[in-house]
Amino acid sequence: MILTVLIMTGCKNKSDQNKPSAKSETFKISEETIKETARQLKEKYGETYEFRIDRGVQQVASLWSESDGKEEDFVNFCLENFEPDSAKLLTIFSKLERNFEVIFGLNNKMTLKLNEPLHLNMGEITFVDLAMGAYSPMAHFNEDMFANKIAFYVALNFPAYSLTEKEKFADSWTRIEWAYARMGDMFISRVPSELNQNYSEVATQSDAYIADYNIYMGNIVDDKFNTYFPKDMVLITHWGLRDELKANYNTENGLQKQKFIYDIMLRIIRQEIPVEVINKSEYKWNPSKNLVFDAQNKEVKFTAEPYTRYEYLLKNFKALSAMDKYNPVYPTYILRAYDQSMEITREEVEKIFIDFITAPEIAEVAKLIKKRLNRDLQPFDIWYDGFKLRSEINQDELTAITRRKYPDAQAFAKDIPRILLDLGWTRDKANYIAAKIAVDPARGAGHAWGAQMKGDQAHLRTRIGDKGMDYKGYNIAIHELGHNVEQTITLYDVDYYMLSGVPNTAFTEAIAFLFQGNDIKLLGRSNATEKQKVDALNALDNCWSAYEIMGVALVDMYVWQWMYENPDANPKELKEAVEKIAIDVWNKYYYPIFGVKDSPILAIYSHMITSPLYLANYPIGHLIEFQIAEYIKDKKFADEVTRMLVQGRITPQAWMKNAVGDKINGNATLAAVRDALKIIKD
Ligand SMILES: [Zn+2]
Repeated sequence: MILTVLIMTGCKNKSDQNKPSAKSETFKISEETIKETARQLKEKYGETYEFRIDRGVQQVASLWSESDGKEEDFVNFCLENFEPDSAKLLTIFSKLERNFEVIFGLNNKMTLKLNEPLHLNMGEITFVDLAMGAYSPMAHFNEDMFANKIAFYVALNFPAYSLTEKEKFADSWTRIEWAYARMGDMFISRVPSELNQNYSEVATQSDAYIADYNIYMGNIVDDKFNTYFPKDMVLITHWGLRDELKANYNTENGLQKQKFIYDIMLRIIRQEIPVEVINKSEYKWNPSKNLVFDAQNKEVKFTAEPYTRYEYLLKNFKALSAMDKYNPVYPTYILRAYDQSMEITREEVEKIFIDFITAPEIAEVAKLIKKRLNRDLQPFDIWYDGFKLRSEINQDELTAITRRKYPDAQAFAKDIPRILLDLGWTRDKANYIAAKIAVDPARGAGHAWGAQMKGDQAHLRTRIGDKGMDYKGYNIAIHELGHNVEQTITLYDVDYYMLSGVPNTAFTEAIAFLFQGNDIKLLGRSNATEKQKVDALNALDNCWSAYEIMGVALVDMYVWQWMYENPDANPKELKEAVEKIAIDVWNKYYYPIFGVKDSPILAIYSHMITSPLYLANYPIGHLIEFQIAEYIKDKKFADEVTRMLVQGRITPQAWMKNAVGDKINGNATLAAVRDALKIIKD
């Protein structure tokens, strides 16, 4: 979990750099001036450049603000700086690319160094470490690039393409055309700083609201005032509640406890939950009947939460949609979340998800779960947790091996070339990659921090106890090594810096999981039957959790569409809409499997409040992972991984078509599920 957060943070840092600087709300270059400027340029250089001129001038105009100069300054800037000559344009591109590598690379290195006292075992963490770790040297990068007019120069000469256009040109673009398109993505919006500030306040408030949304489980009672949970158990919505629900398969009173948690979740979604029991421990609560009692079991009056949950969702909507008019290429938050961030259209994501959750294999997996539980399914069984490995592998035995092999971080570092060799890289290439990865003993569970300029190393952070690396730590380290190998190949071996990296975080996770899946084999302890069973359980577990999150992500998607259609809704109306949408999705895709109607459970995720429209990334990542795994299973791992990675950061669908010959879909996951169902029968 920590590592996902870190990678997400790593990514967030990157987008912070792209946070546009101040633009005044009122100033606008007139349509006439834009047309006239374009006309003059076409007259000067000819109609051949029509597309580049029209788009470039339009783009600069959309970013120009009063502080950048008057209309005539805008005209002169365009006339003087448009570059028609293709050889000169390539030189400009190379210069820009080199400078961005210097800036991003050194910033990354500085941030990594400033954070070392927080991440590595460097003694007690002090005020200085915390303040310096949080310091962001790049905070004003965008502002600076607008001030020195580099942003306008890029916008004028490198057209910004929408995702639809990129997809349309994907098959015909050369590598340099892709690299130019990525350059064109650099400066496409300039949101007034007060709007960014406002959103960051809303985000902080939303986080705080969820962070303080705890339920005192020791106070949960049934009709006879029996308690079921440990007295001191406090669970946060929804993660804590969900994890406790998951932990209660096959425990004493497990089903009863799960029903309590489910009832609590419904009260939260419907905002019937008493404010007296949110983050407060004074009262007993019977969530099934929604009654509150004092210490003497005397019923007390309560106030239901006044739609606060939906008030925060609305605040997010208002803060983010206020930025729409400053994002000419992606003028809604829905477009920015899907087309711009994921680079998969909302329509495509929706289709991928619906195809998956309506597949006949889902009903087969549900049948197996029902058999294993020996009862009818309940809506909360979307969190069925019985496909985890646990007893399938003997962890103690493996820990004995990893401790002997890896007494310290250095021992693991020394073994990286051998690991890569075993995965199929040549000795030269294995040494080449390994030389670019540093292994550091870390405080946390482990993470991977990539370099952002050639000449710099990626860092593998791993936690090693006094007795050496245990199996769990090793398993994580192999995952992180996967990230580091990806980071290294996509920085050093991709032809243009603007194309370095992978399309989005789902891809880096997919590669990391592929490495992780080889961990036992890399210890020289390959057991074919064991591996087959582990893979089968993994496929079933993945399928069921994808089925769950896809439903939640669809609800998130439809709720945002509803907010855009009803921008003036109040929190109560939004609550009713969310409940209706969640129930509609349930009745359409989950009721047929569960046999229980009208559950709004898919609306419980806290991500809806704290990370709007982020959820879809998780299941997409797993589908990609299975597609790649399925494709390379009878091929050479190292060769295929390298071939896929050197494509760099083109769009996800274009990347996948070249990588596995197909767009992103659930077919590979479902194929793995069919195989798994032949192995796991009860
Ligand atoms: Zn990862």
